[in-house]
Amino acid sequence: MYPRIVINKQKFKHNAKQILDLCHNNNQKVMGVTKVFCGDQQLVNIFNDLHFDYIGDSRISNLIHMKTNLSKVLLRIPMLSEIKEVIEHADISLNSELVTIKALNKEASHLNMIHKIILMIDLGDLREGIFDEKELFSTLDELMKLDHILLYGIGVNLTCYGGVIPTKELLQQLVDYKNIIEQKYQCKLCIVSGGNSSNTRLLEEGNIPKGINNQRIGEAIVLGRETAYGELVKGLYDDVFVLEAEVIEQKYKPSIPKGICNMNAFGEETKFEDHGLVNKLIVAIGRQDVYYKRLIPADKNITILGSSSDHIILECSNEQYKVGDIVTFKLKYPSLLGLMTSPYVKKVYVDEI
Ligand SMILES: *Cc1c(COP(=O)(O)O)cnc(C)c1O
Repeated sequence: MYPRIVINKQKFKHNAKQILDLCHNNNQKVMGVTKVFCGDQQLVNIFNDLHFDYIGDSRISNLIHMKTNLSKVLLRIPMLSEIKEVIEHADISLNSELVTIKALNKEASHLNMIHKIILMIDLGDLREGIFDEKELFSTLDELMKLDHILLYGIGVNLTCYGGVIPTKELLQQLVDYKNIIEQKYQCKLCIVSGGNSSNTRLLEEGNIPKGINNQRIGEAIVLGRETAYGELVKGLYDDVFVLEAEVIEQKYKPSIPKGICNMNAFGEETKFEDHGLVNKLIVAIGRQDVYYKRLIPADKNITILGSSSDHIILECSNEQYKVGDIVTFKLKYPSLLGLMTSPYVKKVYVDEI
C-alpha cells in the first residue's frame, strides 16, 4: 500500500551514534528527541541501545507509551490539564510558569514524589522561557520554597520561533545565569541545556561555552540536517526517512490553466508561467498528509507544481514514470512531521543500509 514512509533503522542508528559521540566529545549529555517521529518505539529502542542520556518528547502521550529505561523528559511546557500525567510519566519537565510549577508540586506531594524541572530562560528567540529578569528571580524565589520540586537545571531554546542563531556569546548568557543562580540560591544545577539541532555547528567547532552540559537533539539525527543554517551535516544520512507515493495520472497538459482564474481549493491566489505542454504526474498523497513544499524529489527530473488535499501534481522532464509507478522524496522537517502523524501513510522499516 502507498503512500508509505520507509524508515531505515541502520541509517538512523548511524546518525544517532555520530551525534551522540559529537556531543559526548564536547562534554555534553544528550536528550534524544522523539517528537517528530511520534515516539516510534522501534526508533526509541535505538536510543535505548546506544545509551542516550535522556529521551525527550513534547507530548506526554508519547512519553506514556514509550518503553525505555532512560530518564523521560517532557519538552513542551506542561498544560495545567495534564499535570497528573506529567508527574506520573515524565522524570523531568521543562517549565516557565510559576502557576504550573506550583501545580506540579501539589500533585507530586500527593504522590510523595520529587519532580525535577528545567527552568527555561528566553534569550531572544521568543518561544518558551522567562524573558524578564525580574520574573526569573521572583519565580526562582518562589519555586525554591516548594518541597516536591527540584530545580534540576536551566535551559534555552533558540532557532524555533524567532530564528535566532546560537552563538558562543549568546549561550554564555545562560552560563552566567547558572553561576548567578547557583550562588544566590546555594544550589547545584545538574543540567544547563544549551538547545537543539541548531547547535550542531557550534559543537563541530568546539565552540559550546564551558558550563553548558546538555543538548536536546532531534532533527540532526533524524534528517542529518543542522538547523541554524539548514545545511546537511557531514557524515550523516539525509535519507533515513523516504516517502514513496504512487502515480495515479500521467498526461501532457498545458502549464497554465484554461479559463478565468481566481483562487485554488485552499483560498490561495494562483499564478502560472506558460511553457507549453508539459508531462504532468499526479501522485496519490496530499495536504492532509504532508506539507508538499518541504518535499525533495529524489529524481532531479521531477519538480513539484502544487498540491490539493489528496493530490500532489508534479512535472517530469522525461517519460520515465507511468501510472502505477512510485515516485520517491526526501524530506524536510515539516513534511516528516505531517507524514509521521498521518494515519493514511504506512510506515515500513528496513534494517540494512
Ligand atoms: C523539538 C525540541 C527540541 C529538538 O529540536 P530539533 O531541532 O529537532 O533538534 C529541543 N528542545 C525543545 C524544547 C523542543 O521542543
